[in-house]
Amino acid sequence: MKLASYRKKSPWILHYNAGGCNGCDIEILACLSPKYDIERFGMINTGNPKQSDILLVTGPVTKRNRERLVEIYAQMPEPKVVIACGACASTGGVFRGMYNCEGGIDQYIPVDVYVCGCGTRPEQIIDGVVQALAILETKTKELEESVRLKKEAVKEKQQLNRRNIADEIKPAFT
Ligand code: SF4
Repeated sequence: MKLASYRKKSPWILHYNAGGCNGCDIEILACLSPKYDIERFGMINTGNPKQSDILLVTGPVTKRNRERLVEIYAQMPEPKVVIACGACASTGGVFRGMYNCEGGIDQYIPVDVYVCGCGTRPEQIIDGVVQALAILETKTKELEESVRLKKEAVKEKQQLNRRNIADEIKPAFT
């Protein structure tokens, strides 16, 4: 089975509150409850960025957490997808313009999916995650293709080197 297929079927999510009011976080927890049961999509809420495929961020970027947010994002392996969950993560929301708030998370890391609402409803979060899965599949396919092309280029270069060496040593035996 191709990497894109199984990654899409069991994405690991990292949830990070960048400085919100916890309203969106409670809705994310509701998604894990039996009523919404987000795990039916094969998802696991993990605490390790190095094993995560999707970064789900709530709350705006504040001066205290901006480095941490960038660090978490950098630790995630490629391909990865970022979801800005709620008005705060998308634009700063109700905290926009405050002395300690720097706005939406897209000021510091690239965002693939914006989920609106304050707080976001579980249905909106699930919808955002399903969008993220489609993006994750596309990014995985692109990555696979670039790895394949790189391998082909290396193989061609090796063949060329072998041919050049053969051409160099040939006159010595003729
Ligand atoms: S979007 Fe609303 S509910 Fe969510 S963290 Fe911001 S203020 Fe709280």
